[in-house]
Amino acid sequence: MIETLYQNEAAIRLSIFLGAFLLLALWEWRWPKRVLTQNKIKRWFNNIALMITGTLVVRVVIPVAAIGVSYIAAQQHLGFANHFELPLWLEVIIVFVILDLAIYFQHAMFHVLPVMWRFHRVHHSDLDYDITTGVRFHPIEILISVFIKMFLIVALGAPVLVVILFEIALNFMSMFTHSNIYLNEKVERLLRWFIVTPDMHRVHHSIQENETNSNFAFNISAWDRIFGTYRAEPKAGQLGMTIGLTQFREKKWQNYGGLLSTPFSSNVRGYAINYRDTVNARELTQAKEIALQNEEKAKLAIELDSYLEAIGQHALVSAADSDGNIIEVNDKFCEVSGYSREEMLGQNHRIINSGIHDKDFFEKMWSTITSGKKWHGEICNRAKNGELYWVDGAIVPVRGVDGEIERYVSVRLDISKRKKYELSIERVNQALTDANMQLETLSQIDSLTGIANRRRFDDVLSEYMSTMSRSGASLTLMLCDVDYFKNYNDLYGHQAGDNCLCKVAKSIEENFTRSGDLVARYGGEEFAVILPNINKETALMLAERMRANVEQLALEHGNSPITEVVTISAGVVTLLLDKNIKTETIIAKADKALYRAKEIGRNRIEISS
Ligand code: GH3
Ligand code: MG
Ligand code: MG
Repeated sequence: MIETLYQNEAAIRLSIFLGAFLLLALWEWRWPKRVLTQNKIKRWFNNIALMITGTLVVRVVIPVAAIGVSYIAAQQHLGFANHFELPLWLEVIIVFVILDLAIYFQHAMFHVLPVMWRFHRVHHSDLDYDITTGVRFHPIEILISVFIKMFLIVALGAPVLVVILFEIALNFMSMFTHSNIYLNEKVERLLRWFIVTPDMHRVHHSIQENETNSNFAFNISAWDRIFGTYRAEPKAGQLGMTIGLTQFREKKWQNYGGLLSTPFSSNVRGYAINYRDTVNARELTQAKEIALQNEEKAKLAIELDSYLEAIGQHALVSAADSDGNIIEVNDKFCEVSGYSREEMLGQNHRIINSGIHDKDFFEKMWSTITSGKKWHGEICNRAKNGELYWVDGAIVPVRGVDGEIERYVSVRLDISKRKKYELSIERVNQALTDANMQLETLSQIDSLTGIANRRRFDDVLSEYMSTMSRSGASLTLMLCDVDYFKNYNDLYGHQAGDNCLCKVAKSIEENFTRSGDLVARYGGEEFAVILPNINKETALMLAERMRANVEQLALEHGNSPITEVVTISAGVVTLLLDKNIKTETIIAKADKALYRAKEIGRNRIEISS
């Protein structure tokens, strides 16, 4: 059987190749994995034309096929296998595995060495990925591969059977792994543990160079896992990934001529293997996180800059070291204070001290900020030209990494205008208060005589009544009335009457100088006297003295039926206060006594009983 295989090797290989091609092509067409992006006819034509060219070139350059080399090696007893008596099946397995491993390294070398990459990139420049990608190799790459393979066959003494099987496997797997067939996912995952699958190898055809430099294996998938070049999936996903090379996407590189000339065009700068990234997923995630954080920080820094700029437009900002020496000032501070930056740097903040705040003010400020707390308040400072300006400021202590206060940052707003306004408001308010007080006083003074008026009398009397009734003290009230005053007016005129009232009022008032005593104009030509805490006898004595003093004024009254001078009569009442006594009662009693004094003859005092 093996003999038949040897004799019909070419026919068998061709049939298997064509059979597999047909099968995979139909599969691709019926159940494709991805939607292709290029014109299929043109692509297939170019890729297959390249394959035929390669086959012909190999035939011409190397008349002996790999199998022939194997025969020769066997005859000449060349190579490793021909020196051992191993069972054929074991030999087949060992040599197959070694050959496959060699192909893995060869493939990797096509990516590693720039000159080899020149040729291999023809295979990678395909913009779609299907069965014909698997036969798209530059003739020179095929030649190089055949030479390497022959060398290996000789070196290994590979049995003819292995070579035939390996050739069949290579042909089939090349088409299979590049095919656009849809495979059930579970089957695909399982297969991947043993052989290279289309999905696994498609990663290797990604436009992303770090993905291109993965999954070099050809038949046995384990090599990538063993040598650390395995990558399960492309970043963009099997359906979303882009196939091909960045430098060779133009049409001219995709036709037959372009494919042949690709190795000689442009340079190989940036050949893919340089870009294999070896970081693992966790490192990648961390790196991304750090990148994101840095991006965030950069954004924040920009944002912060804009805030600082905005603050700088309006606020006076300065920083001082732990001794209070200025180490930074902004333009606004210079503008308001009138000092240049150079004049302020290194200086103590005392340079702007206005002198209007006391020592205590600054001591409190320092004890606050040196204890690590923020200080806030209004300060008056002095500009370089001597003018005062007010600021509303905050001083914030800033700690260094060691936890010690390193600097104090002050941000202040110029509130001079507001302060000026506030001060004028304060002045107006003070004036208003004074005026109100004056008004209040005036509202309790009788405008004619200058003594207390009736309103004041009412207030004082009710206050005494309420406060003194609790202590059970005594209160005296005198009600006085000028005798025959109507007659006086009639004789001397109203103006003279007014003058007379002023003199009488003054005279009465002079009798009562104790604090707490009150003399008031009760109405018209009537006067009232309130005297707290005197007994009846004293009250009578004082009332009599008052009456006598008025008489002694000797104000001429030519129209009085009783005397020739102005006189007064008075009713006096003295009561021990208690809460049952009402204001009206005490007034009524005094009034009654006054009435009696008038009746009895005037110019006299009557005591209420
Ligand atoms: P008597 O009290 O002794 O009984 O006689 P009289 O003339 O004083 O009587 P009455 O109390 O009724 O009259 C009060 C007069 O006082 C009336 C008014 O002409 C006068 N009078 C009241 N208020 C004023 C004032 O403010 N100025 C002046 N010039 N006269 C006043
Ligand atoms: Mg009267
Ligand atoms: Mg009278």
